[in-house]
Amino acid sequence: MANFIRPDLQRFAAYSSHVPMGTTSVPEIVDHLDTNESSYDLPAPLKEKLAGDYQAHIRANRYPSGDHHELRNAIAHYAQSSATLGDRTVTAKHITVGNGSDELIRSLLIATCVGRPGAILVAEPTFSMYKILAQTLGVDVVTVGRDEETFEVDLDAAEAAIANAKVPIRMIFMVSPNSPTGNALTTAELNWLRQLSQDILVVVDEAYFEFCGQTTVVDALARPNWVVTRTFSKAFRLAAHRVGYVIAAPEMIQVLEKVRLPYNLPTFSQTAALVALRHAQSILSVVEEVRSERDRLLAALKDLPDFKVWPSAANFVYCRPTQGLGEVFQKLYEQGTHVRQTGGGFRITVGTPEENNRTLEHLRNALMLTAQ
Ligand SMILES: *Cc1c(COP(=O)(O)O)cnc(C)c1O
Repeated sequence: MANFIRPDLQRFAAYSSHVPMGTTSVPEIVDHLDTNESSYDLPAPLKEKLAGDYQAHIRANRYPSGDHHELRNAIAHYAQSSATLGDRTVTAKHITVGNGSDELIRSLLIATCVGRPGAILVAEPTFSMYKILAQTLGVDVVTVGRDEETFEVDLDAAEAAIANAKVPIRMIFMVSPNSPTGNALTTAELNWLRQLSQDILVVVDEAYFEFCGQTTVVDALARPNWVVTRTFSKAFRLAAHRVGYVIAAPEMIQVLEKVRLPYNLPTFSQTAALVALRHAQSILSVVEEVRSERDRLLAALKDLPDFKVWPSAANFVYCRPTQGLGEVFQKLYEQGTHVRQTGGGFRITVGTPEENNRTLEHLRNALMLTAQ
């Protein structure tokens, strides 16, 4: 590779969704259950409203709002209503927004580790973007494991990793509920995070908050070394618009504001997020259905022989055939059910009832049960 390119980048492949080798036929119906978006588009009246806003209010020749003031206020209001905070108040000063939470993860890495020795700690299997973004910035990644049955973080290993790290660990990423395994942080895990040194930034990624209801926003308000990240890409049905946000102490927000690109969030995306928040109740009304579909899916998956499935607090399920992982993945794909193969199992997004029925049918086919 050319000398002007960093040699360590040669090892990485660009992010792409996984297509199994040798796939030739494309089925008539394809269910995209590999990225955990909502299966439901925005309600038509809201799309019309957005289109109208574009016509009437958005000037295409002007840069977006650079301080996101209106959106940050609206998010603060929503964050406040989503948690039990006593007399604490979430304000715009506690919020910064990004082009998806991916941008915010990158900003957090820049703010803590880039330009000096520093590492992050993650417990695998978990969201892959922490490691990928860290590596592209030349930031070291320390990994610890999880319990095979409960997927709780191996806290002894984490403790040892922090004590013995050659490069200081400056940030810990925890997803709650974790992707791909679906488990929310336990009290023991939360207490461990709360007693960490103030020199380590704790990031709790609550991308799936709306499906679970458990939040650490109160910690983000009370602790200078605690950050909550969330997104509009999942329960809010806005993945196309790439809007994520951070809730943290104003001092932390000021730093993230220094790091972000000036006009990072397009006007239309800001407008979409504002419309979504104004109509949160109607948009989030399908969350209850997704949760009951998830439980139906889990119950049916439990009945499959030679198949292991774990509980989930999110809009996806994690499961594993006892053998033939790659083959089952390929057969699912060929039937039009796209799932994510990760951590030695499948992460399957909960879709519409029809999609979930096909998931079960295709999985049974793939496991060659129907053939018998
Ligand atoms: C989907 C997801 C996100 C959202 O990322 P965006 O960039 O906001 O779309 C963040 N964290 C986790 C763990 C996710 O699964």
